[in-house]
Amino acid sequence: MSNRTIYWFRNDLRLHDNEGFLKASQRPGEIIPVYVFDPRIFELSPLGFRKTGIFKTRFLLESVEDLRRSLQAKGADLLIRFGEPEKVLAELAQQYDVSEIHLSKEVAQEETDVESSLSKRLKILNVDMVFTWMATLYHVRDLPFGFNKLPNVFTDFRKSVEKNTSVRPTLAEPSALNLPEEFVPGEIPSFQTLGYEETELIQADGRGVLDFKGGETAGLQRLHAYLWETQNLATYKTTRNGLLGADYSSKFSAWLAVGCLSPRKVYEEVKRFETEIIVNDSTYWLIFELLWRDYFRFVMLRWGTRLFKPSGLKLDKDKTWKQDKALFERWTSGQTGVPFVDANMRELNATGFMSNRGRQNVASFLAHDLGIDWTWGAAYFESLLLDYDVCSNWGNWNYIAGVGNDPRENRYFNTYSQATRYDPDGAYLRHWLPELAEVPADRLNKVWQLSKSEQETYGVSLGSTYPLPIIPADKWL
Ligand SMILES: Cc1cc2nc3c(=O)[nH]c(=O)nc-3n(C[C@H](O)[C@H](O)[C@H](O)COP(=O)(O)OP(=O)(O)OC[C@H]3O[C@@H](n4cnc5c(N)ncnc54)[C@H](O)[C@@H]3O)c2cc1C
Repeated sequence: MSNRTIYWFRNDLRLHDNEGFLKASQRPGEIIPVYVFDPRIFELSPLGFRKTGIFKTRFLLESVEDLRRSLQAKGADLLIRFGEPEKVLAELAQQYDVSEIHLSKEVAQEETDVESSLSKRLKILNVDMVFTWMATLYHVRDLPFGFNKLPNVFTDFRKSVEKNTSVRPTLAEPSALNLPEEFVPGEIPSFQTLGYEETELIQADGRGVLDFKGGETAGLQRLHAYLWETQNLATYKTTRNGLLGADYSSKFSAWLAVGCLSPRKVYEEVKRFETEIIVNDSTYWLIFELLWRDYFRFVMLRWGTRLFKPSGLKLDKDKTWKQDKALFERWTSGQTGVPFVDANMRELNATGFMSNRGRQNVASFLAHDLGIDWTWGAAYFESLLLDYDVCSNWGNWNYIAGVGNDPRENRYFNTYSQATRYDPDGAYLRHWLPELAEVPADRLNKVWQLSKSEQETYGVSLGSTYPLPIIPADKWL
């Protein structure tokens, strides 16, 4: 019987608080840390954009590179392959004669399909699979209810876990890591190997909120900066609906999504901040938001594929959605003629990021004002967001589209009042819509009403330099 273990890194690209990797490293014998780039996640979707777009791909490559460096610093390495993980891992298991493959547990369909397929292949080889639950703040086993009894309403979920459960402490990094002698590390794939054309390799726009860099090192630096260097956490609740700049919100999402940051690490640091600096609504609110993240993961675990269908969690088969590509492309390209929607979509296209306020508004606009199949919007976000997380993305879209398990019937956002409330002086619009730079703040969000002579004064030509709205936008005023 061999004494070798493969640890398959998935969305847990870190050494701190990585329970699965720690356990695997404590087994007697040698360990082979592996990352596999799956070609399927870089393919073009039926709507014509890549499932994983350039921003998240770059972030992922940087994260894997960082993990490799950290392992090398411990005298180990990361074995990197390109191919379908269920096949690659089964081959590696044979090649290296391993007895166990350890991995984190995922919950969404594509990920669990890979798990099942790998499991079948490994059975034949007599190799065991050992799963560890890792992505959430609260451990699934610590929930005060079985996951099939998950409350339909977030507030019930939150109150129940806050009252009855505690967050498990973070775990140390592994110390000793022994690689087999015949270990062949492999190269990090190029963009070309992942299927990218030269023209797709755009860099994030310098106007973005932050220069996001993938990896545990950068994730921990951001955690340190947001809590300890700037102490922005102390005002998070009042700034979190902002739109411009690095510090209105934590920006932890991209690192959390690929596991460069552990949510429990964030929690512990917030608790330390509360002991050493201040306890207030803001410190609580960051944890509150992490509970939304947990909730959507448990929702995915409970309701699975329902989240990906237009009828949503609610199984609402009566509602019909338009599948109008031309209209959809006006939305994706930020050419709807509604400035707040366009500014947010252009930010997303240029940087891979959009604020939570922006996401809510553009999603509501697509689903309710345009009546377009919201799953198209969710798929577009999947491709563009550098913090794309299957549970948070599809879960939030269900809620906004009104097909989630939400007690509030109507999640409609009046874009005009949202824009004037959250961007009162128009700074955000001017940042992303330079063609409207000269328009006074009180006219920006109803720019379609400018007369010909006003258009001349403000250097904008409606229908030419900036589009007329694709909906009767006066309804909001
Ligand atoms: C339509 C739509 C799609 C979204 N898609 C994603 C996605 O793919 N990936 C993703 O991480 N978040 C998604 N969100 C949630 C939220 O917009 C982002 O997590 C947040 O904007 C990221 O910025 P931040 O890290 O500065 O957040 P902060 O405000 O600093 O919040 C801290 C952390 O809490 C979590 N969080 C905050 N709000 C939510 C929420 N509504 N749902 C789940 N978790 C939350 C995130 O992990 C975030 O990093 C989506 C929201 C909407 C409305």
